[in-house]
Amino acid sequence: MKDLKLLIRPNIWALEPYSSARDEYKDTQAGTFLDANESPYNSPDNRYPDPHQADLKALVARVKGVTPQNIFLGNGSDEAIDLIFRIFCTPQRDNVIALSPTYGMYEVAAHINDVEYRSLELDEHFGFNAQRLLQLANERTKVIFLCSPNNPTGNLLPEKEVRYVIENFQGIVVIDEAYIDFAFKPSFLRQLAHFPNLIILQTFSKAWASAGIRLGMAFAQPDIILLFDKVKYPYNLSMLTQREALTLLKEKRFDIDQWVRTIVEEKSRVAQALSQLPFCLKIYPSDANFLLVKITDAQAIYDYLLKRKIIVRNRTHTPLCHNCLRITIGSITENTRLLAALRQYPQP
Ligand SMILES: *Cc1c(COP(=O)(O)O)cnc(C)c1O
Repeated sequence: MKDLKLLIRPNIWALEPYSSARDEYKDTQAGTFLDANESPYNSPDNRYPDPHQADLKALVARVKGVTPQNIFLGNGSDEAIDLIFRIFCTPQRDNVIALSPTYGMYEVAAHINDVEYRSLELDEHFGFNAQRLLQLANERTKVIFLCSPNNPTGNLLPEKEVRYVIENFQGIVVIDEAYIDFAFKPSFLRQLAHFPNLIILQTFSKAWASAGIRLGMAFAQPDIILLFDKVKYPYNLSMLTQREALTLLKEKRFDIDQWVRTIVEEKSRVAQALSQLPFCLKIYPSDANFLLVKITDAQAIYDYLLKRKIIVRNRTHTPLCHNCLRITIGSITENTRLLAALRQYPQP
């Protein structure tokens, strides 16, 4: 990896970050707070939230086996993705690389930031060759995005190739692990300390069942996390989000592992049942909480399900996904409803 200073946009390197009232005086417990122009009424909502999210980071650090200095928390993974562009990529000059098909936000964030987006199509097994990927890079390539398990294909990317990219690329490698809790392979988080150029994205939106509170995580070495802190909005996580996340992680009435086990079991049941249907051509192996399914006529079956108020994702216009539906694994009841509807699909 190049020296971090050479990868960062010069204006970000030079940036003097905003200093909030809570940066200048940190103790929030005791005191008469007349420094942030807050209202004295409507407690506790009258106070600005902790800009450093110290309590939540301490808990996430424990759960994930990292230190708080390895953690950025944002308004969904999407905030982390956007910040990566704003920290590393000079508009109209630099470029990033990703695989195709993959999560659409990398390309959208590239376009919003006016950064060139290059991509390599996955092979027919949804794998890729690391050397071919690196051939797309030049001296202006700042970031490579890898999504594993990948959306919408559902598979973990081959570990050997991912490792080769991390070890040989001179810039930043982002591994988006939004679905890692559903896979029977460990996260790259365990190897974070070995890789100064690695950023791992995870989220509260999938296995942790909290898409509504908008909470995404990025894990990296402290020097990279300091850059996120420098560029983010000072109060980027509301008090409501921080409080809800703390409750989720603290309260024993939520058994996230049990939720994951049930979803993974249901995925097998749904896959098995789908494979019996005459119009189902292929069910791709999935390490995530959804199935990518190739059928005879994706549009017709999508429309049929829609009429029954069952909504899946039609991916037929995505590269390598012609006539494919992406079906999220829901509750047992929801999955049973989906299968019942599909069994009644009128055959021509
Ligand atoms: C769902 C998903 C996310 C989660 O995004 P949030 O903004 O955290 O809700 C991130 N990456 C991928 C690939 C996803 O499919």
